[in-house]
Amino acid sequence: MNEIETELLAEARARLSDMFPDLPPVDGQLDRQRIEPVLLKVAEKLGDNFPYQHPLYVGQMLKPPHPVARIAYALAMDINPNNHALDGGRASSRMEKEAIAALADMIGFEAHLGHLTGGGTVANLEALWVARELAGGGRVLASSEAHYTHSRMSGVLGMEFSTIGVDRRGRMDVEALAAELERGDVACVVATLGTTSQGAIDPLEKILPLARAAGVRVHVDAAYGGYFKLAAKGNPVRERAFAAMVEADSVVIDPHKHGLQPYGCGAVLFRDPQVGRVYRHDSPYTYFSSDELHLGEISLECSRPGASAVALWATLELLPLEPGGEFAAGLGDSLAAARELHAWVERAEDFVALASPMLDIVVFGAKAARAGDASRRARAVFDAAAERNLHLALLQLPRALAEPWWPELQWDADMVTVLRCCLMKREHRDWLPMITDLLGQAGASTR
Ligand SMILES: *Cc1c(COP(=O)(O)O)cnc(C)c1O
Repeated sequence: MNEIETELLAEARARLSDMFPDLPPVDGQLDRQRIEPVLLKVAEKLGDNFPYQHPLYVGQMLKPPHPVARIAYALAMDINPNNHALDGGRASSRMEKEAIAALADMIGFEAHLGHLTGGGTVANLEALWVARELAGGGRVLASSEAHYTHSRMSGVLGMEFSTIGVDRRGRMDVEALAAELERGDVACVVATLGTTSQGAIDPLEKILPLARAAGVRVHVDAAYGGYFKLAAKGNPVRERAFAAMVEADSVVIDPHKHGLQPYGCGAVLFRDPQVGRVYRHDSPYTYFSSDELHLGEISLECSRPGASAVALWATLELLPLEPGGEFAAGLGDSLAAARELHAWVERAEDFVALASPMLDIVVFGAKAARAGDASRRARAVFDAAAERNLHLALLQLPRALAEPWWPELQWDADMVTVLRCCLMKREHRDWLPMITDLLGQAGASTR
């Protein structure tokens, strides 16, 4: 935290403490002499990291929390509320409900049931679990580009998982989906709006009618891509899919991916609040004081950080989820940065452009005659860029997703390693000239 942030936190902590004026004071001296060396050691240990917070980090999906989220989170630590039940987190549970309502509003749900989770994995697990409970079993269908959590969680739930093929952009093949639905015994189709590897967008508007005709639920995994609902305009593929999100049975969005939140903040939302009955349980010891619905009654996880809800609520208060608003403009900058980087790669001497970006992830190859050499060169570029403080990611791309864009490549392997940039930070657009300059240098150094 910088000086202003520290001051703001101190001011807010004083205000919070004023809220409990009648409590007798508790003495608790901070043992500065013992704590200080521990914290300095922690700082040194944390230094062994890629600089995720910096705009020259364009590797994995990492986006620093907004200062207001960090301060609100730290403030909540004075209370350390537990959003399992109103007994443990009355105010923060209310803030969680309001934050979830804002996400539901963004999706367009008229009614909803939902809550925050530890992340996208648990959120997806809940959506699949509800699908299983309602259908009484059945298979889960998702594309080969869907997050691995779906096959893994299907296993946890004892549900069979079947993979649907994708087109050259990594989008679910709807004809293959139709054929798989024909085979029957399906509980749920998972559509991904924004795949983790390339930001591909499944054609949700085509998936929905197929699934409806088969009487099957549709779950949308938008853990990474969900917020782009606010900035979907400008590309018809993107626009159509995001417009259809309102018809999904359940949606997962991770505020800790694109929503400027610290880790430990996913969300699952259901369009029909009646699915709450699936969660029914009788616990004798948690709820005594409340007549409202406990979030713990509609969540698989028991204890959950109230601080996550507080941080998200504060962020939404500052940056409401409005198309055309400040937060949406930040997403727009990321989309523009991705388009600009893709255009630069198209002209670059040492790189090969692959599918054009649908969101803010750009994937491209390092030029070579054969796949094996292209993979080695991509790894060399990764290292050469890191030496210049530019931090990229590597991605294993199956032949079918690379070949249509890279017809001259000779295939001596089934996969090719390529480079991947996540331009998730708003600053990335301004930093793009430096990013491409360093990337150009890294590429040239591997000739
Ligand atoms: C990140 C991601 C997940 C997993 O979410 P976690 O928050 O990491 O548990 C699931 N699906 C998609 C599409 C993702 O991008």
